[in-house]
Amino acid sequence: MIKKVLKFGGTSVGSIERIRHVAKIIEKEIKQGNSVIAVVSAMAGKTNELLNLSKNISTDFNKRELDVLLSTGEQITSALLAGALTNLNINAKSWLNWQIPILTEGEHSNARIINMHVEQINNFLKQKGVAVIPGFQGIMRNGDISTIGRGGSDATAVAIAKIFQTDICEIYTDVDGVYSTDPNKIPVAKKIEKISYDEMLELSSLGAKVMQSSAVQTAMMYNIPLEVKSTFTNRDGTQIFEQENIDYKKSVTGVAYSKDDSKITIIGVEDKPGVAANLFEPLNNAQINVDMVIQNISSDQKTTDITFTVKREDILKTIDILKKNKKIDYKKITKNDKVAKVSIVGAGMVSTPGVTYKMFKALADEKINILAISTSEIKLSVIIDEKNILNSIKKLHTVFDLD
Ligand code: ASP
Ligand code: MG
Repeated sequence: MIKKVLKFGGTSVGSIERIRHVAKIIEKEIKQGNSVIAVVSAMAGKTNELLNLSKNISTDFNKRELDVLLSTGEQITSALLAGALTNLNINAKSWLNWQIPILTEGEHSNARIINMHVEQINNFLKQKGVAVIPGFQGIMRNGDISTIGRGGSDATAVAIAKIFQTDICEIYTDVDGVYSTDPNKIPVAKKIEKISYDEMLELSSLGAKVMQSSAVQTAMMYNIPLEVKSTFTNRDGTQIFEQENIDYKKSVTGVAYSKDDSKITIIGVEDKPGVAANLFEPLNNAQINVDMVIQNISSDQKTTDITFTVKREDILKTIDILKKNKKIDYKKITKNDKVAKVSIVGAGMVSTPGVTYKMFKALADEKINILAISTSEIKLSVIIDEKNILNSIKKLHTVFDLD
C-alpha cells in the first residue's frame, strides 16, 4: 500500500465531467490498494470570479471577509468530488479547513500552514476512505478563515504530504509534466522524466509555471517526492526528487525565460563603500524585487555604473524612488523595458566545463547581444532584447542537445 496525496488543479476540476474523471483516477488508486488524500483547487476561473464579486462591493474589500469568500471555491470542488466518489461506491468524505483543522500563521490572504490534526483523517484512511481536502486555506489561531496566497493549493498538498507522512505527492494538472522549455513556443521541447528540486525551483521561478515555487521549496526541505502529471492523459509525468537520485547525462536540463523584465542603469555613481546599500535600501523598503545586479569596474576609481533588473511593472516606481534618493549621487539613469531573461538550468552544469562559453558562443552565432549576465551553480541567465527571445531559446535548446 502506498499512501498518496493527489492534488488536482483548477482545470482538472473545471467541469462536472472533469470532476467525474478525477473520481475515476482516484478509483484506480483505491483498486490498487493505495491510500488517498485528494487536495482540490477551485474550478478554473472560480477564484477570480469570486475576487471580482468582492471588487463590486468595494476595491478595499475587508480582508477577513475576502478569505471567507475565496475559500468557498475549493469548498465547492471538495463536496462535488466527494459526491462523485461516493457515486462510484467509494467511501469518501470532504473536510473543510476548520473541521480538520488546518492551522495557519500570518496575515489574511497570505497565511502559511503550520500544522493540522491528522488523527481523524488517518482513521478514515484506515477504513479505506478517501479524504477530500480543499487547497488554499486554513484557519488562524483566532478561528478566522485564512487563505495562503494565489496558487496555494500546491502548498496545501505538499504540507499535507509532510504532515501526514505520505510516500508521494502527485500534482495533477493540464500539462503532462515539466518540459525542457515552453512546448507552446518550441514544439521540439521534451518532457523531462526526472528533475531535482533545485532545478525545478530554478525553472519555475524563471517562468516555467507548472508548480508554485514555494511548494517545491517545502518539498525540497522535507524531501517529499513529487510527481507532476496530466489529468487528461495516462502518460508518465515528471518526477521531482533529490539530485542524488538522478544520473545526469546532459549538462543542461531546461531552458527557461521570463519576458516581463526591465533593466535600469545608473551611470556615474560614486565608487565608495555603502553606495550599493544606499541605493537598494529604499527599493527593498518599497518591496521592489531586484533580480540581477551588475556593477562595472570603475576606470577612474571615482565613479562606476550599476545596472540591475526589476519586473517591468515596477520600473516607473523604481525610477521615481531612485530620483528621490538623496543618499546617492550619479550622472544619469537610463532604462530599457523591452528586455527578457533567458536561462539555462542544469545540475549537470556543475561537472561539465565550458557551458558558459557554449552559451555565449551560441548567442553570438545568432547575433544576439547580451545585456547582462548572472550565474549560480546550476543556472546561467542572460538579459537580452525581448525581440530575440524565441531565437535564443531555440538556439540554446538545440546547442545543449535538448531537441
Ligand atoms: N484557487 C486558488 C487560486 O486560484 C488556489 C489554487 O488554485 O491553487 O489561486
Ligand atoms: Mg494552480
